Amino acid sequence: MALLQIAEPGQSSAPHEHRLAIGIDLGTTNSLVATVRSGLPEVIVDESGRALLPSAVWYRADHAPVVGEVALAQRITDPRNVVVSVKRWMGRSLSEIDSLADLGDSGPRSPVQVSAEILKTLRERAEQALGAAPDVLGIRHQEITGAVITVPAHFDDAQRQATKDSARLAGIPVLRLLNEPTAAAIAYGLDQQAQGRFVIYDLGGGTFDVSILQLSRGVFEVLSTGGDTALGGDDFDRTLFDHLAGLVVPGALPDLTLSVLSDADTSALRVESRRVKELLSSHAEVQVNCALPSGRRVEVSVTAAEFEKMSAALLARTIVTTRRALRDAGMQASEADGVVLVGGATRMPAVRRAVADLFGREPLTNLDPDQVVALGAAMQANLLVGNRAPGEDWLLLDVIPLSLGLETMGGLVERILTRNTTIPAARAQEFTTFKDGQTAMAVHVVQGERELVADCRSLGRFELRGIPPMVAGAARIQVTFQVDADGLLSVAARELSTGVEASVTVKPSYGLGDEAIAQMLTDAFGHAEADARMRSLHEQAVDAERLLLATQTAIEQDSALLSVADQALIGQRMAELSELCETLKDADALRAGIAALSAATEGFAAARMDQAVRQALAGRRVEDLDTNV
Ligand code: ADP
Ligand code: MG
Repeated sequence: MALLQIAEPGQSSAPHEHRLAIGIDLGTTNSLVATVRSGLPEVIVDESGRALLPSAVWYRADHAPVVGEVALAQRITDPRNVVVSVKRWMGRSLSEIDSLADLGDSGPRSPVQVSAEILKTLRERAEQALGAAPDVLGIRHQEITGAVITVPAHFDDAQRQATKDSARLAGIPVLRLLNEPTAAAIAYGLDQQAQGRFVIYDLGGGTFDVSILQLSRGVFEVLSTGGDTALGGDDFDRTLFDHLAGLVVPGALPDLTLSVLSDADTSALRVESRRVKELLSSHAEVQVNCALPSGRRVEVSVTAAEFEKMSAALLARTIVTTRRALRDAGMQASEADGVVLVGGATRMPAVRRAVADLFGREPLTNLDPDQVVALGAAMQANLLVGNRAPGEDWLLLDVIPLSLGLETMGGLVERILTRNTTIPAARAQEFTTFKDGQTAMAVHVVQGERELVADCRSLGRFELRGIPPMVAGAARIQVTFQVDADGLLSVAARELSTGVEASVTVKPSYGLGDEAIAQMLTDAFGHAEADARMRSLHEQAVDAERLLLATQTAIEQDSALLSVADQALIGQRMAELSELCETLKDADALRAGIAALSAATEGFAAARMDQAVRQALAGRRVEDLDTNV
């Protein structure tokens, strides 16, 4: 899906027209919500002034779920009922996930439900801050118009769909999903440049993601992504934990000299390790003086240099992954036009140094690395709802890069949504059956600009069954193409008299790079004339086949109405026309063949008509006819 930047007639928005838009970073470890106020993006904090909401949910029987710091704290006392890192499971079904299915006393929860709790908390926080919460009488004076929610660039369809479902469950109107690296680039204003290639290095709590984006004409394209779903800030905590665990000394009580740490001690030491790690980002040395629940103690000083040495291997892994992503994008580190650091763990000075060394330039770090994704999402949401500062007349819009259509008889393409249509978009068209008594219809969805299915790209097929048997051409089948704001295409077919329905969802741009799209367009232009001729030929063939079928059926039903001579003539014309259909070379000859067969069947058709009218009249009184016509 290409993002095109289009100019909109600049209507300056008066203050009272300001619509409420929010951006949400739904993170593995922490989530945040941001908005644009007076033209400036800012993160929305909770009552205690905290911006980060830990992505943890605590479930208790007969209680509303609790999200955030409190839930995280319960991990020590009630680990069975606390869900963390649910983002890792998005897009998976419950049967694939034991840990969530086995949620203590409160029963199974799907990742979508757990994420929805986090989103609901963020929504309420935003409503409170933006004056959109219900008043004492429960009346809402303003609503949040829309939200942009970010997802990793590597998220597949199922994961994106699950994210949207969560938002729906949380009562959040989603304007669109946005890739996290693109949001970070927007927050840094990189979309305002003419062009460039940017590297987004994102080290979060549990995951590492690197993305290479290319900007041209206001469009961000993902050139490559890389990452490690099992490498993040938590692993840096663990190296410190291992170090500190080795230095635990017995407490005052003689029975606590076990060499293995208890669960409670482990949890406490983990929390301490994280605290020390974060402190070491801004201090050269940290004095650890920690009493564990059992009474055992750790008393030691850790220097930043020591910590860097312990964790050097982890950092090196991120650099290897970054190099690989550069290679996949076909570029050298020195060719990057900008490097952005995202994620709380990039506060570690060693990370900044390693990235600067690799690229030979200082990474962008002036925005808070925890917040940049949410800030960019808020800026995008603000644009999408139509709040624009004076002079800010650009709107990022997605368009359909290649036409979407379906296969019709004769291997022809019927385009339903033409290329460059802005999305979201929807269009319906009616089709009918080809054969008498046809009860199923194959729907083949294709993408491309060419006239023949064989020259287009096949996106998916499905079958509509249960069409009531009718004569050819009588059934009315409505096919609807719908592309949502994220480029997901759903195609539904519905037989209008019975309401039977079938559908598919596909992602049309999947696997198609700009080059492939360009090639498909060039092909279409180059073949326009030949394609038009082919189309006309195939259309004639379809007409011919339809006539042949109808004639055949008529003969089977009413051969008694035919003279031997007529039957012979019709048979001959049918054979000639079949032959022309088979060779499929000459549209004019086909047209002539159709005319010849039609002429030969004229008398027969008239005789059948008479017979039908006679049968209809038989046994009826004339008065009935008026009302029954
Ligand atoms: P996610 O995107 O996975 O939700 P975040 O971007 O919020 O995660 O990053 C969380 C990680 O950042 C945690 O491992 C946390 O310890 C780490 N972090 C936060 N502040 C600092 C800091 N000052 N120094 C080092 N690491 C930090
Ligand atoms: Mg993140």
